[in-house]
Amino acid sequence: MTAIPLGVPEVPVRPIAERRVSRQIMVGPVAVGGGAPVSVQSMTTTRTSDIGATLQQIAELTASGCQIVRVACPTQDDADALATIARKSQIPVIADIHFQPKYVFAAIEAGCAAVRVNPGNIKQFDDKVKEIARAAKDHGTPIRIGVNAGSLDRRLLQKYGRATPEALVESALWEASLFEEHGFRDVKISVKHNDPVVMVAAYQQLAEQCDYPLHLGVTEAGPAFQGTIKSAVAFGALLSRGIGDTIRVSLSAPPAEEVKVGIQILESLNLRQRRLEIVSCPSCGRAQVDVYKLADEVTAGLEGMEVPLRVAVMGCVVNGPGEAREADLGVASGNGKGQIFVKGEVVKTVPESKIVETLIEEAMKIAEQMEQDGVASGEPAVTVS
Ligand code: SF4
Repeated sequence: MTAIPLGVPEVPVRPIAERRVSRQIMVGPVAVGGGAPVSVQSMTTTRTSDIGATLQQIAELTASGCQIVRVACPTQDDADALATIARKSQIPVIADIHFQPKYVFAAIEAGCAAVRVNPGNIKQFDDKVKEIARAAKDHGTPIRIGVNAGSLDRRLLQKYGRATPEALVESALWEASLFEEHGFRDVKISVKHNDPVVMVAAYQQLAEQCDYPLHLGVTEAGPAFQGTIKSAVAFGALLSRGIGDTIRVSLSAPPAEEVKVGIQILESLNLRQRRLEIVSCPSCGRAQVDVYKLADEVTAGLEGMEVPLRVAVMGCVVNGPGEAREADLGVASGNGKGQIFVKGEVVKTVPESKIVETLIEEAMKIAEQMEQDGVASGEPAVTVS
């Protein structure tokens, strides 16, 4: 086999922006804020009391790259399941609590890595903040103050008329101040809204008014296509200003899809090492191959590849050779043939029917070489201001 001169693989050295300076909390072993890599979260859709199904879904989420998982806890049976789930989960578990302060204590006692409370249920929580702060401090359990437009504190709804950015921020900071009164600052905050414009404004205001780490989310973002776009636009707007320490993409779709989207958003912004990246042209009247089919087949053939590989799939010779040369690996198609490029050099020309298998074969060689050279995947590149 001919050795391929790979040189130093291109890794992101320049994230989209310097990160906002925030205090750091630990959600189990995952650092959030304080310059830690932006982490990706999701939430289970199973009944938490069904321990087997919940752990199965957590295992699937872990395999998809999820770093922190949240589970709902609306009943005593769910609360009773938390200890086993927290102990057996491979990733930190956050208990999501509404209305019932007793479940906050149960989650802390159960060893959950964090607890999310909703200030919209403020009457139920306000009187208990002192005890919650003490229990959380004793167990080293951080609290997420999770404000949601759909369940905003009634007092603030009356004051502002609707869930404005100002209302969301005031709700979050009010609740944080209650914890601060008891010397508890192991807190992260979210101010979610289903409208990315309102959500972005809320997080911007929040970022200016506190140094807590921020959990980004567009709530009820919708089905996969719409939710992906809303989340990408909103997270992109915020992360491009350095705002955001952990993210959850909310989709009406299986939770592993949320994780895929979240990871892709971070990779796109150079906040995480890119893995496989297919650079394929949209095709046009000049295309001399079926670019969609080719791109799909190459993507399927390389699925799961962990090394940061950029593969160009181009339909003709206009931009094809240029893009193929810039990538680790590429094909520029034309006249029933494909010129295969590796690191800018044409290594062979193959008939159209052999393009996919040749690209996959060459990709495997490059991946093997990268692994031998110790090119780590998944380590996000970060800078801290
Ligand atoms: S590479 Fe060629 S086929 Fe693809 S969009 Fe550009 S001009 Fe069209």
